[in-house]
Amino acid sequence: MNKAVFLDRDGTLIEERDYLRRPEEVVIFPGVGPSLRRLQEAGFCLFVVSNQSGVGRGYFTLDDVDLVNRHLLAELARESVRFTKIYIAPEAPDVPSRGRKPSPRFLFDARDEFGLDLSESFMVGDKLIDLECGWNAGVKKSILVRTGYGAECERAVPEKISRAAIVNDLATAADFILNEG
Ligand SMILES: [Mg+2]
Repeated sequence: MNKAVFLDRDGTLIEERDYLRRPEEVVIFPGVGPSLRRLQEAGFCLFVVSNQSGVGRGYFTLDDVDLVNRHLLAELARESVRFTKIYIAPEAPDVPSRGRKPSPRFLFDARDEFGLDLSESFMVGDKLIDLECGWNAGVKKSILVRTGYGAECERAVPEKISRAAIVNDLATAADFILNEG
């Protein structure tokens, strides 16, 4: 079976901006490309799992999200990084959603489509909902990065994240995964 790393986008791979909608606003954190490539070379399939409620709120469209994602993918492709699939939940928080984190639904979809062993897979993000998404799916470990909202989350709800691994950024998350996985 295959194993995977599921990655939140905003605040994890790229700088957090409120309702980022344009490719020019994308700033990839230092070290992300090489870190993802190391994971890939170790046999992990890479997925992005992103809530984009700005679509449901009417701030931007799914096409805008797609443009941003394509830009991100193109930038990382220059470092030989390839994602297996991108999952987007576009609904506003008050609207029923199939996959909006902390729902594990997209991870189950990925498991079924790509033959993944979730118990050998990891979830990385900067918010509690990212960690919960991983736990709800039964991943080996949910990892909180201190980038984006991560440091704030660590301060705000320490008791809720005690099961998570907490690391400074995606590069150290990759170190953790390569040690554990
Ligand atoms: Mg995030």
